[in-house]
Parts: sequence; structure tokens; C-alpha cells
Amino acid sequence: MPAIIFPAKTTSFYLICLALTWCSTAAWSDELPRHQSTPGGVAVVALPMFPKTASAFYNDRRVLVTNQKNNWIALVGIPLVAKAGKHELELRQPGRPVQRIPFTVTHKSYEEQHLTIENKRMVNPEERDLERIGKERVRIVKALAQWSDRKDVPLRFDLPVDGVQSSPFGLRRFFNEQPRKPHSGLDIAAPEGTPIRAPAPGTVIDTGNFYFNGNTVFVDHGQGLVTMYCHMNSIIVQPGKKLLPGAIIGTVGETGRVTGPHLHWSVSLNNTRVDPALFLSTTAMSKLKEY
Ligand code: ZN
Repeated sequence: MPAIIFPAKTTSFYLICLALTWCSTAAWSDELPRHQSTPGGVAVVALPMFPKTASAFYNDRRVLVTNQKNNWIALVGIPLVAKAGKHELELRQPGRPVQRIPFTVTHKSYEEQHLTIENKRMVNPEERDLERIGKERVRIVKALAQWSDRKDVPLRFDLPVDGVQSSPFGLRRFFNEQPRKPHSGLDIAAPEGTPIRAPAPGTVIDTGNFYFNGNTVFVDHGQGLVTMYCHMNSIIVQPGKKLLPGAIIGTVGETGRVTGPHLHWSVSLNNTRVDPALFLSTTAMSKLKEY
């Protein structure tokens, strides 16, 4: 079979295109969360266009849109309860018909985790606890649903604490053999008092002590990307505080429903909890030791 020979001009054009494609893909992979279109994952969806007045929605929730090398890309948080199959984004623009952009969600199975909690009120709260829990849920949902327009949203995170991954995201949980909601964050075990640092720039939107989550800080990174830090010993920031990457927000503790000192770290996109590991840089991943 004869070799395929490109004319000199065509060859160099082809190589330039190839190089550009490779470079842009490599650049994206450094700057975007890893694409994992599964329940609990993040779908990286290319948009054909994104005029200034447009906004993107998934299940009626506004979605983060970023521009990478003149390409518009939507980052869609997929809920753990999502079914595998065809899903779609809606591009809405005033005075224009809605444009639908399909993407596929594939199945992912998460392992079970069985934990024993000594304090039975943390598994089956009493009547007097329920009112507090109800009020706190409203506050938590409000913080996680925060939307702020910001173009330079940080899309890669450092580890917020040096430690050992004690529970990955998504585990199907049983407390004292009773089924409860799946694990909505990443647990990093570390000694009490270990500093917790902002893994990327952001603004503190709320702090407080919560029944299950203990001492908690919420950080807004822009366009519906919000992080939550739970079970802290001390909190040293207040709502409104602007954070640079690496700024200390408090320390590791064991407040709320815990079996030992650790940080529970949640990442929320379009008000949907997704796997924080998808946002970790390769360096951060290599620092995260596993049990
Ligand atoms: Zn946790």
C-alpha cells in the first residue's frame, strides 16, 4: 500500500492543526475538572455558541459556563440520583427559542459503607432536634444555591487539608445498620487542630454550628461553584471575607456527626453535590493518601 504523502504545505498545515488540537486539549485538561458524566460526576459539555445574553440550565438550575481558548464549555453537576441515559442542557436567550444540547450520563456504582455512631441522637434525632435540623436545612440549601456572576471561576483545587482520605464521595451509607443519604463529600482524616486552607480563591458566604455538620464554612467561588467544610474545631473567618488560595479558614475537628477528627469537604455545582476529587490537580491527587 502506498504511503500517504501530503504536499509540503498541507503537511505543515495538518501538523499545526494537530499541535493546536493537542495543546488546547492539554490546556483544558489542566484547567477544567475531569469529565465524568455519571451520577455524582461533572459533565464537560461543549456549547456551539454562547451569546452575552444567554444562560444555560440543567434541570432548571443555572449552570457554570466558561470560555477556554475561544470555546464555550458548560460544567454540569450531575446528581447522585440521576438515571443513566440521555440528558440535556437548555440554552436560554431572551426573545429566542430554547436550544437543547444533549449529553449522555452513564452508570456508576458506589460501594456501601457501614458506620457505628455511638450518639444515637445523631442517627435518630429526637423531636426537640428536628426543629433545629429543619431550620438548618433551609440555611444550608440557601448557601449551596448561591449564584454570583464571576468570569474567572477557579476550576481546579488544591487539597484543603493535609491528611488521609478516609471516605470517598458517593458511598451508600448505613449508620448503625440504618440506610441514610449517600456520602455527599470527600472525608480527609487529620489530627484535631490541623489547619484547613481555601483550596482556591473565593468568598465566605456563611459559617455556623450545625446539628449533623458541626462547625461549618461555606465558600462561594462563582457561578454556582460552592465548597463546604464541616466538622471543624475552630472557624477563623466570617461571612464576606475574601479568600486567597491557601488562606486558613479554621482547623480540623470532630463536631457534629463523626466517628473521629476529619474534614468533610463538599463541592457543589448548580446546587448539586459532586465528587471533589474531580477538581483536584494531579499534584493534589498525589498528596491525598488513602487508608
Ligand atoms: Zn463526610
